Amino acid sequence: MTNTETPVTVLGLGHMGQALAGAFLKAGHPTTVWNRTAAKADRLVAEGARRASSIDDALAAGALTIVCVTDYQAMYELLGASELSGAMLLNLTSGSSTQARAAAGWAEQRGARYLDGAIMAIPSAIGTPEAVVLHSGPQADFDAYSSALESLGTVTYLGPDHGLASLYDVAGLTMMWSILNAWLHGTALLRTAGIDAATYAPFAQQIATGVAEWLPGFAQQVDTNSFPAEISTLQNDVHAMDHLIEESETAGTNAELPKLIKAIATRAIAAGHGAEQYPVLIEEFSKPA
Ligand code: NAP
Repeated sequence: MTNTETPVTVLGLGHMGQALAGAFLKAGHPTTVWNRTAAKADRLVAEGARRASSIDDALAAGALTIVCVTDYQAMYELLGASELSGAMLLNLTSGSSTQARAAAGWAEQRGARYLDGAIMAIPSAIGTPEAVVLHSGPQADFDAYSSALESLGTVTYLGPDHGLASLYDVAGLTMMWSILNAWLHGTALLRTAGIDAATYAPFAQQIATGVAEWLPGFAQQVDTNSFPAEISTLQNDVHAMDHLIEESETAGTNAELPKLIKAIATRAIAAGHGAEQYPVLIEEFSKPA
């Protein structure tokens, strides 16, 4: 089948499911849709989607069935009573890696092929290259549908472990919130001197980009478990952390973030890593606090 001939079914037409179905339609795929609240299919049907009369009808229509509902429990409720034998499911519902692996076992026991995925985008970005959609599970199943899936955005295959898409998803979330928190903390500090957020933003962007460039070298240290202090020792970094805490407190801003940063570094120093470089903190991040 060529790209636009793959019939696709989308189960779940909330904000994200509607965007997914819309992108398949726009790319020319015969698209069947179903939603618990049927009216949410109306716009898509007006645009050319086929409304399934039941979940079983929806499953029979698509070579690939995409599920995008609130959570995994909703997926089980949705598909629990249906015959899944022979179905090719791609679950783009957000969840944990444990839930993804359990769902894979559940689907395979019922005779379905199963890919798990994670959407790292908002609905309005779906169908553009900015929408990153991660997939994990059997490679042959991904390869069979990757061309159709490209209708959704930038599709990536991560490996056969069904939990990988969810793990990458949460790894991306911790990155995103950490960067945003750091930027907001810096913005709060600068506002005490009358500098507005827009003035600081380009400088913050430059810092974030510069730090991002350290990652491949630091990753090598983590992977080889060797942390020579090529730039700075952790012990020296802690002096700068003290300075950051003091500045935050003097300015009357929230010092929780720098205190957390220092607490983690201090534990690593107490464990004997003061003369090593920052990525040695991987040991702290690899165990419960
Ligand atoms: P939403 O707008 O709240 O829609 C939820 C969907 O789940 C609706 O279609 C709803 O059906 C359905 N549903 C919930 N419980 C159900 C059940 N027991 N049986 C059958 N259907 C059920 O949510 P959304 O924004 O589309 O998000 C869907 C998934 O995409 C979530 O896992 C979310 O984390 C993920 N995601 C969303 C975004 C985003 O920006 N929106 C971004 C990345 C990932 P009804 O219409 O009948 O209630």
